[in-house]
Order: sequence, then structure tokens, then C-alpha cells
Amino acid sequence: MECQNQDVDCSDGKRIKLDSSHDSRMAASGRQFFVGGNWKMNGNTTSIDGIISFLTDGSLSGDQTEVVVAPPAIYLQYVRQKLLASVAVAAQNCYKEAKGAFTGENSAEMIKDVGCEWVILGHSERRHKFGETDELIGEKIAHALKAGLKVIACIGELLSERENGKTTEVVFKQSKAIAENVSDWNDVVIAYEPVWAIGTGKTATPDQAQEVHHQLRDWLSQNVSPDVSAKTRIIYGGSVTAANAHELALQPDIDGFLVGGASLKPDFVKIVQARSS
Ligand code: PEP
Repeated sequence: MECQNQDVDCSDGKRIKLDSSHDSRMAASGRQFFVGGNWKMNGNTTSIDGIISFLTDGSLSGDQTEVVVAPPAIYLQYVRQKLLASVAVAAQNCYKEAKGAFTGENSAEMIKDVGCEWVILGHSERRHKFGETDELIGEKIAHALKAGLKVIACIGELLSERENGKTTEVVFKQSKAIAENVSDWNDVVIAYEPVWAIGTGKTATPDQAQEVHHQLRDWLSQNVSPDVSAKTRIIYGGSVTAANAHELALQPDIDGFLVGGASLKPDFVKIVQARSS
């Protein structure tokens, strides 16, 4: 593919380089922009009612963007019942078994039973605060997909790993553990979330994020298939805000966002609109 550089104006007045194949690549890929809101362990019925009302009032870009919100497990059914049907609901985690003596866990089957379609698995907070391994995450992904949930599968390197030049080694290893457990990639979105950017206010630059997304797409092409590589959404997460979303969304291999802190605020609607704005 021929790649001629082209300057693009950004909302903050900066100009960034895009290659001229950007538009045709997006059109050819047919990848729908995807924005997920991870509420983490935040909210109560009052604040959730507030989020539901700004999501209901905001223009969520219709068919252009797929929108998914992930409330804490205890509020999944409440949110599913009150939210617009066009916004999907995800759990933030689930276990690798359907039922049984696993106190405190929720199964993919239960998440489906209350009307939710998605689950986030492998989030860095699960990996690093709760010690989830690639192996466990792989098992959870396999079970969730088998149970009929769609999966937002998260990967990302620590700051020390990036500083030691190990970013690709880490994210490729995490990707391998995911890929070994996926047979139908239509139900999977990969979220690249550098750990040093999550909840820190330090966003990866558009170039840093695009570089890893492009490497991940190449990895998928070589290790899964060129078709899966072309079709799978790779979204970015890590301190995305209404101010930085548009510039990130211009990158050819960034197909959307997983948003933490900003998904609790009305600005989330602007992030959903980042591709079209
Ligand atoms: C996240 O929780 O996945 C996340 C990216 O958080 P934040 O946007 O707050 O960095």
C-alpha cells in the first residue's frame, strides 16, 4: 500500500502526520468505532441515574460508534433495565465456570441472564491488583465466549517494561494467551491499555499508541490471520479525555477507546463522538 504523508489539523491547533491511505484503509476495514466506559468500583443508584441521563440526552453517533458501559456487577441489571437499548452493557469481570462453589464470583451465564452482552477481561487492575495470570484470563475468555458473551480483552505493559524496551514482548505474550482461547474473533475487541497511562492522567501520545496498535495488528496478521487482523477492533485505553480523544481517534489503527475516569462524566459523550467530530 502506498503511504504518502499528509498533515492534519487537530482541535488543539497542532498538526500531525497521517499517511494518505488512512481513509481508504478505514473504509476498506469496515471496523466500527467502539467506545467502552469502565466505571470500575464507582457509583451508586443516584450517580448512576445521572450517567444514564447524560447518555440518554447525548447524541451517541448512531450507527457510527458502538457504545458499551461497564458498571459494577451489582448494578448490571439496574443499568440494563434503565439504559437505552442501543448502548450495550458489560461486566467488568467474570469467572471461568458457569456455577458452583466460587464465593464472590459471577459467571458469564449470569451476566447474560440479566441481559448484558459484554465482559471486560484481563484489565490491568485485575492482572496487577488481583494477580490474574495470562492463563486464568485465557480460561475466562474461553468460557465467556462459549457462554455467548462478547469480550473486551485487555493487554498492556508496565512503565518499567516500556522503559526496558519490552513493550512488544509483553503485549505479544498477552495476545498469544488470548488468541489461544478465541475461535470467533467477531466477538472480541482488544483493548491496548499501557498500565502507566491508566488512571494517571498520562495519556500515550497518538504516535506511541498508533505504533503499538500497528504492531498488534501485524501480530494478529502473522499469528491468527490477515482477515482477523483487518477486522478486529483494537481500542486504546489510558487517561482518554474529551480533550485528547479526537487526535487519538485519527490514528489509522485506533478503533476506539476504553475509558475509565472520564466515562463517569458527561464528557464521555464527547469521547463517543471523537471519530465523527
Ligand atoms: C480503564 O479503566 O480501562 C482506564 C483506561 O482508565 P482511565 O481512563 O481512568 O485511565
